[in-house]
Amino acid sequence: MLNIHKLCAGYGKVQVLHEVSMDVAKGQVVTLIGSNGAGKTTTMRAVSGMIRPSAGQISLNGRRIDALESHHIARLGLAHSPEGRRVFATMSVADNLVLGAFPRLTGSRPKGDVKADLERAMELFPRLKERRNQLAGTLSGGEQQMLAMARAVMLNPEVVLLDEPSMGLAPILVEEVFRIIERLKAQGVTMLLVEQFAAAALAVADYGYVLENGRIAVHGPAHKLRDDPAVKAAYLGGA
Ligand code: ATP
Repeated sequence: MLNIHKLCAGYGKVQVLHEVSMDVAKGQVVTLIGSNGAGKTTTMRAVSGMIRPSAGQISLNGRRIDALESHHIARLGLAHSPEGRRVFATMSVADNLVLGAFPRLTGSRPKGDVKADLERAMELFPRLKERRNQLAGTLSGGEQQMLAMARAVMLNPEVVLLDEPSMGLAPILVEEVFRIIERLKAQGVTMLLVEQFAAAALAVADYGYVLENGRIAVHGPAHKLRDDPAVKAAYLGGA
């Protein structure tokens, strides 16, 4: 579904990613773990077209996307829920969600039923349902983060990139985010997940990649990575 081959990318003259290769198969949850600054967010940005790779190839369903603009990539069914809280502050929760479906309506993919998808998103995120008419800018930080995630789901994506969906959330909301990821997985949604809680990410994922200084250091089935002594020591708090 999503194939990344020898991806190199960075900012200006600074190269961050060095020949990163990853595969995300349909219906799989794949996690990318690594220390701060390893290049996880940069990988997500390159895949969704926010930054232009300097070398390598990225394909979605066999089609090259590494030279396309991000709105075009979104229309092909790739949703990116970026790090941080990117919502339209002066619009309601419901309007933010409907906007999430917009790239799909202008593309060649099935348009589906936006209203039904809105209700599905509300079921998945009950906190948003209670606040559907509230202005997004007045939501708590955690709620805004959930809204950003729900908006990505509204695209009915082929693949969703989730960048640190639990960042800055209270423990109870972190649990809720992982429950939602489990439910999306059960619905067959393909996901690439970057998470500071590496153990929880490996628990929900099928496969994992470890990024060190912009290079893939180890990869394998998630359960194997969980038992790998080096991965445990470096990323799982030695647990
Ligand atoms: P974290 O877990 O801290 O979010 P990360 O693995 O997601 O880290 P990136 O955000 O991809 O790491 O950053 C990789 C490197 O790229 C870092 O050295 C960072 O300082 C640099 N970097 C990130 N964004 C920019 C930018 N817009 N301009 C210049 N350098 C950047």
